[in-house]
Amino acid sequence: MNEKTAKKTTIFALDLGGSKMLSALVDVFETTDGERKTELRGVARRTLTKDAGRDGVWAAILDATAETFEKTGESWDDVASIGATIPGVADPKRGYWVYAPFSGIADFPLADELRARFGKPVFADNDVNACAWAEKVFGVCQDVDNFVWITISNGIGGGLVLDGKVYAGKFSGAAEIGHFNVVESGGALCGCGNRGCLEATAAGPGIARRYRELVKGVFNGGDAASSELRADWLRYLASSGANANAEFELAQSATAATIAEEARRGNPLAVKVYDDTGRYVGRAASYAANLVNPEKIVIGGGVAGSFDLFYPALWETFERCLFKATNKTLTIEKTGLGYEAGLMGAASLAFAPYC
Ligand SMILES: [Zn+2]
Repeated sequence: MNEKTAKKTTIFALDLGGSKMLSALVDVFETTDGERKTELRGVARRTLTKDAGRDGVWAAILDATAETFEKTGESWDDVASIGATIPGVADPKRGYWVYAPFSGIADFPLADELRARFGKPVFADNDVNACAWAEKVFGVCQDVDNFVWITISNGIGGGLVLDGKVYAGKFSGAAEIGHFNVVESGGALCGCGNRGCLEATAAGPGIARRYRELVKGVFNGGDAASSELRADWLRYLASSGANANAEFELAQSATAATIAEEARRGNPLAVKVYDDTGRYVGRAASYAANLVNPEKIVIGGGVAGSFDLFYPALWETFERCLFKATNKTLTIEKTGLGYEAGLMGAASLAFAPYC
């Protein structure tokens, strides 16, 4: 991009999560033909405790904000607007934090407070919807008006952009893909109270749990493990100089990230867990596709870092469950937002049309 022809807009971005918050300045360069490039500056991070409450969150916001401006040496004069993501239920029209189930924070007029404090226009919405929108503004859907966004990290969320706008549903509850049922009976208990939800099965903690169960089954040689898989596993352990007892112990503290490393080293149990993850996500993605007939499905969140590990099984299941006649050109892609997707989501809210 020729920076001489690019218009620069600086947005102050706040990404509020359940356990942490980030602030940064996001420079957005726009050329006359609509191409956008972004740069993040002055990223500041604060940990949020579950019982921080509204005052604790507000104190963290002020603290991180000061650090971002100190790091960048910028002043508010250079900032066009503020974008903020809200974890939980949000009302984007008022920039209102309606409710967050994990922290109990409710009825927080976040946009009003930020506007009063810093004197800039404020845009705020639910973090998942904001990330979906960011994919349209900055990511792999800049030329796409109909797509489904799925984020897989500690939980699984979904966002819809339909006809070029975020579709939030009556009570911001659209695209709760994490609560699509993917295990008919005997599935794991989900935070929502149901069993067998995609979130309980294929989010980071679900990946770790299935790995622990699989290692245990194979280790014990019981019904859960086919003899072929056990033989493959023992061959892998022998070739890598590991032993079954140590692997069993390691599996107890394995995370989605360490299991991905194991899969890349060829551990057949880790490979199977990621294959299964792909099958669960692929099934849920096919339901979403059959409902809204999107042009793309985009997968973000921390687990998307392992996209290549689960994509083949995802696509195989997806295609098998898809109504193909109207979805011939549909693709499933990894997010283009990078690691700080939440900050990009916050910044994207300033770009109309929103909602
Ligand atoms: Zn659920």
